[in-house]
Amino acid sequence: MHIKAQDLGFIYGKGTPFEKKALSDVNVDIPPGSRVAVVGHTGSGKSTLVQHLNGLLIPTEGSVTAGEVRISPGTKQKELYRLRRRVGMVFQYPEHQLFEETVEKDISFAPRNFGVKETEIRSRIQAAVAAAGLDDSILERSPFELSGGQMRRVAIAGVLAGEPDVLILDEPAAGLDPKGRRQMMKMFSDWQKAAAARSYILVTHHMEDAAKYADFIYVMNGGTVVMEGQPSVVFLERNRLLEIGLDVPMPVRILMALGHSSPHSLTTYEADETAA
Ligand code: ADP
Repeated sequence: MHIKAQDLGFIYGKGTPFEKKALSDVNVDIPPGSRVAVVGHTGSGKSTLVQHLNGLLIPTEGSVTAGEVRISPGTKQKELYRLRRRVGMVFQYPEHQLFEETVEKDISFAPRNFGVKETEIRSRIQAAVAAAGLDDSILERSPFELSGGQMRRVAIAGVLAGEPDVLILDEPAAGLDPKGRRQMMKMFSDWQKAAAARSYILVTHHMEDAAKYADFIYVMNGGTVVMEGQPSVVFLERNRLLEIGLDVPMPVRILMALGHSSPHSLTTYEADETAA
């Protein structure tokens, strides 16, 4: 699915004394089959932007289009639901959103909510469990007796079971060690590659992850996109990134200098990163 934001602007608490302009004139264009990263320091507008791309927020200016759905100021709630069905969101610490008494119920929540037939739900659960790197034997257990890592995968399986075309990943590897981060990102990478039109949008503070797992990067600052392009282009502009509070660590610079915009295979640098 093709997602675009056009001249997108957003003000929190519009018309109240607490008004806060969080986005202005944001344009993004994400064709099907994309692996995109959104980077920027805290408060630059990343979360506000991605919440527009899955219908959690309605623009105060401009529009978001996703396939045949168009969201602009005044759009009705029904249209937002249509968008949410197609664009899944993995929040930070998604395990905090588990609430059902069994893993199976948790994973089937989204498809059931979307009105998917019971006969199909079963196969969706199985596919989602496998894609999230879990075993079927987990289904009857309570999510609350699992390890932290398993809980996170269950929460992610719940999003995958909705069969989104696009996944928004808001710091999905937060709190994990480098090995856990790599495993988590590999899982999303495999999910994305499994069907030609699937895309993900990764919000991250980790420049290494943006370099490794994205083919296109949007850099945000002060509520707008200040740089965009392939990692090999964006990361060469280190001084501009430093000015807006982002640094490009050494392994990323080496990778980019070598001309690798998606260096999945460069395990030496992954090792560097682990040591860092
Ligand atoms: P990031 O994800 O890059 O950290 P956010 O999108 O969360 O940035 O925030 C962008 C700006 O909007 C910040 O100035 C932040 O303080 C403000 N903001 C975020 N959420 C709210 C909210 N619910 N109410 C008011 N202001 C908010």
